[in-house]
Order: sequence, then structure tokens, then C-alpha cells
Amino acid sequence: MLMLAIGFGSAAGAGAPPDDRPLYPDEPLERLQYQGRARPDQAAAELERLLAKPDLPPAYLLEGLLALGVLYVDMEQVDATNAVIARVEQIGRDGNDRLQRDAAVTADRLRAGLLRNSGPLARADALLDEAERGLDGNSSVLLRIACLSTHAGIKEELGRFDEAVRLYQDAIHLSERSARWRASSLLNALAYTLFRAGQQERAWQINEDAKQRAIAGNDWMSLNEVLSVEGMLLADQGRNAESLQTLKQANAYARTAGARRDEALGLGNISDYYLRQGDYKTAYATAQQALPLARAMRFSQAEQLAQLNSGLALIAMRRKDEGLPLVEEALSQYQRSDEIVSLAETLDDLGTYLEAAGYHGEALAAFRQHRERAQEAFQRNQQRALVELQESFDAERRRHERELLTDDNQLMQEALRQSELRFREWALVTAVCGMAVVLLLLVYLRTRATQRALSSNNERLKVQTEQDPLTGLANRRHLQRLAAQGDRANDARGTLYLLDLDHFKRINDHFGHAAGDAVLIEVARRLKAVVREEDLVVRWGGEEFMILVPAGQAEQTELLAQRLLAALASLPVLAGTSHIAITGSIGFASFPLQPHQLEVPWSVAIDLVDSAMYIAKTQGRNRAVGVRRLPADSLEKVEAWMKDLEAAWRDGVISLVEFHGPEGVGQTQ
Ligand code: GH3
Ligand code: MG
Ligand code: MG
Repeated sequence: MLMLAIGFGSAAGAGAPPDDRPLYPDEPLERLQYQGRARPDQAAAELERLLAKPDLPPAYLLEGLLALGVLYVDMEQVDATNAVIARVEQIGRDGNDRLQRDAAVTADRLRAGLLRNSGPLARADALLDEAERGLDGNSSVLLRIACLSTHAGIKEELGRFDEAVRLYQDAIHLSERSARWRASSLLNALAYTLFRAGQQERAWQINEDAKQRAIAGNDWMSLNEVLSVEGMLLADQGRNAESLQTLKQANAYARTAGARRDEALGLGNISDYYLRQGDYKTAYATAQQALPLARAMRFSQAEQLAQLNSGLALIAMRRKDEGLPLVEEALSQYQRSDEIVSLAETLDDLGTYLEAAGYHGEALAAFRQHRERAQEAFQRNQQRALVELQESFDAERRRHERELLTDDNQLMQEALRQSELRFREWALVTAVCGMAVVLLLLVYLRTRATQRALSSNNERLKVQTEQDPLTGLANRRHLQRLAAQGDRANDARGTLYLLDLDHFKRINDHFGHAAGDAVLIEVARRLKAVVREEDLVVRWGGEEFMILVPAGQAEQTELLAQRLLAALASLPVLAGTSHIAITGSIGFASFPLQPHQLEVPWSVAIDLVDSAMYIAKTQGRNRAVGVRRLPADSLEKVEAWMKDLEAAWRDGVISLVEFHGPEGVGQTQ
């Protein structure tokens, strides 16, 4: 699902009980920032006049220019923003140390805003990292909030949700010292991030807090924002009628506030709602209604969303030739600007609507790309975390080395003791995050103090980096390492089962994330109980498990598929006081492929069971689909059939076998 929530670039929020301050202090700069959320063009014009007055104190002028620059960034006016940046830099050159620093940070913040619009996001991210180093407790609160909240938005788009949340929290904390309306706006932005990160429960709580503040302040723009997110949360729970009503209500507030840009965005959200309802005609009409508004406002994000939704609706109406170019345009824009979260979400949507229209081969390709993207984002983030860990370690180490050189022996002992402690901490962090053994070794060797334990620790850590911390099962990395061993290292051997839990998202939404985790742990236990000692159960991804069984006979292979289904569905999972019914869908195949004993690489084997699993999903879930005969004599043929396995099956080229699981027992969602 792709919906867009917009927040004022420098929006912020608080966390305090009833507050009877006015929404903003009675002062023109504050008033214009508040009004700029709804009518940025008018507010910018007034700000220009205000800031042209002679003899304004330079610190005030700088804050005013920040507010003005933020408005231009939001309106995607690059030249006007650059003109503001030039004025900011002039203030820096003329001012004292404090002004110089704040001016440099302000300029970086505005540049990062431009980069956020055009990409690449990674550069915007780096620029803000740099800018924030120039901030301290004496910097302007507005400037600090502006940096933190924009940085949070960028982290979110890069898929680094945990960091986004932390940045929003800092901004929210600071906003207690700022105009009151920022509270609700920032809390709402945090709620949207949590929603995108799949933390529905927390998103509800935070958004509700934002809503109460918006109601208390009679703040229409905040009401528009909180109701937009509430509409998405309701849709996610399947409360469709309420969702539509709430999204429409949100748009009514935008209209009342005169916020035509937000109205365009809101229409995009409503069109998204109709898409998910399967009402493609209305989805298309609503997206088309948003287009002229977005164009008139020169609001390219809203225009892109409207085009994307139009494209998806056309595809779903079996007008793929018209729809696909619109979707591809959005995809390539996301790709260019590095917006990997939107990219992954859109590929998922594309797969869904291609599937709805019966374009199965294309749908599968889109889902596969989605999976790759999600995986890539995950790896990239791990990579970053690793580099950061290394950097912080290096800085620490240099400090210690200085101490060791200058101080006496006692201090040296203390430093060594501390680095040993730190090593333990890192070992834990690293094992939990599943990071590379190499880094640990580096850290370890440099700390010197615990060298004796090297070999045994190293073995233990290798196990930990290949183990999933939640379920205790082996992780993907473990299977990859095993697959790379042996004589014919690249070819798959044995039977592979890919198991994906059905509607797992609903379990999380309905019973909470902790209950979801409990289900995963219990599923891992049941799978282990069904297979034999020499079989391997791997946590493949979130709610996906891969089982690898050494070569066996076809009947045993098929029997195991049925036993796996039964292990899930015949007993509800007990989580707290809930009895949760679960089922799963399985794709499986044995390698080398029958009847030609064709050897295929692991990557193809995995794609093949993935395709079979996908058929199990589309056939109604709670079932296993296995490849019984795939009479290919070359890899090319396998790959060609795999593009649309279901078609090859219907055409009788390959033969599949299908088993239903027992009906799930327990509370369903
Ligand atoms: P389908 O039947 O089509 O597979 O539907 P689904 O809801 O299972 O599929 P989807 O892939 O949309 O959702 C998977 C969900 O699994 C999304 C994510 O929030 C959740 N999830 C992934 N990892 C974890 C985890 O470690 N703990 C919990 N509680 N949930 C997780
Ligand atoms: Mg899944
Ligand atoms: Mg699933």
C-alpha cells in the first residue's frame, strides 16, 4: 500500500498533558509558520515582506529565513530556496561564532530539503549528519527541530525506521519549548512512521495523542494530518467504511483550512482506498480528480501519487498497456532518488493488481523484485550499522590510545578493563544484529585484554551470526553457507519446502506484535518437531520458513508437506489468553528435477519453490503445492516455465501436486 502523509517540514510535537497555551505565540514569524502549513505560497510572500524590513536582529532574521526556506523547499521552488540559502550564508559571514554556526546548519538543512525532493536521499542523510554536529544546546530550537524532523523523514524513506523513530522522539521532546501546534504535527509524523514500520499498535496510540491535541487546539491542519493516518490504520484493520469516512473527513479539514496541496494528497489517499477495495473505476476517477489540483499547485509528489494510482487502477481493469508506463515512471523516480521503502511498497502493489487482473507471470516477477528490494534495504541498513559501529569504536580507541600514552599504569589497567567490558557489549549487540564475525574479530583483537578466549568465542559467535535470535532456528545466512559447501557447490540437492504463514499481518494487527512473535516461536518449535534430526529448518524471513530435507522418495516428500500443514493448523497457538488459529502455504520441490535429473543452482531452486508457494497462496492458502514432474532438459527451459508456473501447469507441460491443510482451529482474526 502506498499512501502519503505530509507534515510541515519543520513540524514538531510535545508529550505533555493539557496545555492552555495558544497554538502559536502572538508574533508575526510564529503566525506565518502556522499559516504556512495550509497556504505556503501566501505565507512565503508575507514572510518575504517581513524579512525585508531593515534593522531586524540577525538571529531573528536567520530564523525567518529558515522558515521561508522550508516553505520554498516544500513548494519545490529550487531557485527561491537557493536565494534564501545565499542570504543565510551572508548572515553567517557577518555574524559572531554562534550565528556563523547556526547559519551553516540552516544552509545545510535547506540543501538537505532540496535533496530530499530530488534525491539522492543518501546525500541528504549525510548532509544532515554533518549539520547536526554543528548543533548544541544553545542553537535555535526551531533549527534543531527542523533538522531532526526532516532527518527522521529521510531515515524513514531509507527504511531505517528505528533511527527515524529516535529522531522524531528527540524533536518531540524539544518541541515542548516551541509553538504548541507542532506537538500534534510531529506526533502524527511519528505515528505514520510506526505505521509504515508495521507497528500498528504504537502508531494508534501516538496518533490518538496527536488527535487529542489537534482537537483541543481546534487545529484544522493537524486534524487533516491525524485523520489521514487514522484512515490508513482503519483500512489496515479492515474497518473499511470507517476508513473511507475518516479519509473524507480528513480532506474536508484540508479544504476548510484552504490547504489545496493537502487536498490533492488526500484524494490520492482516497483513491488508494478504492484500489484496495477492488473498486478500480472509482479509484481511477478519484486519482484523475487529484491530478489537475496537484498540477495547479505544482506539487510533484501528489501528481506522482495520482499517476501511480491511475496506473494501478488501469492495470487492475486489465488495461495493462496504458497503466504500466505510469507505474514504471513512479518506480524509476523512486529508484533515482533512492526511496527504497516506496519502491518496495510500489512493487508489492504492482504485483497485487497484476495478480487481480490475471497477469500471473508479471505479478510473480513484481513480487520477486519486491522481495529483492526489501532484502537489499535490509542488507544495506546492516552494512551501515556495521560501518557506524566501526566508526564509534575507532573514535573510542583513539581516545584510549591517547590516555595510554600519557597516563600511568593504573589508568592503563582501567582502560583495558573497560575495553574488555565493551567487547562483551559489542559481542551481544553484534550477535543480536546478526553482523559479520570479521568485525567482532577486529574489535576483539584490538582490545587485546581477552585474547586467551579467542578460539572458543569465535566459534560461539559464528553460531550466533547464523542463528535467528527470536526462534533459535538457523537463519538464511546459515543455509547460504551450507549451500556453498560440497563438491557440486552451486547445485541444489534434496527437497526444499518454503512455508509462508497465511495472513500473518492480521495476527499482528489483531493480537499485537508480541503475540505475533509468540506465534513465530511456536511455529518454529512445531516445524522442528515434525522433521527429523538431519533435516534443516531455517527462518527464511519474517514469517517465512525454509526446510531442507536430504533426498528421499516422492511419497515421503509429499507426506511431509501434509504433516507440515497439519502441524500448523490442527492446534491453535496459545499467546497470553488468546487461542490463535494459524495456517500456512507451502511450495516444495525435489532436486535434481525429475524426470531428467536436471541439476539446477540453489537460486533457481529457491525461485521454483517460491513460485509454487505463490500458487498455493492464489489457490486459497492453507495448502501445499509441489512440483512433481518438470520435464526440462536445460536450465533455460526451467526458467522459461517458471515465469508463469501456473500457465505451464494449466497447459499440462509440468505436473504439480496439491494438498489442503486441515481447517485452522482457534480464534481467527
Ligand atoms: P499472506 O497470506 O499473503 O502471506 O499475508 P501476510 O499478511 O502473511 O503477508 P505479508 O508479507 O503482507 O505480511 C507479513 C507480516 O509479517 C508483515 C510483518 O509485519 C510481519 N512480521 C515479519 N517479521 C515479524 C516478526 O519478527 N515478528 C512479528 N510479530 N511480525 C513479523
Ligand atoms: Mg511473507
Ligand atoms: Mg504471509
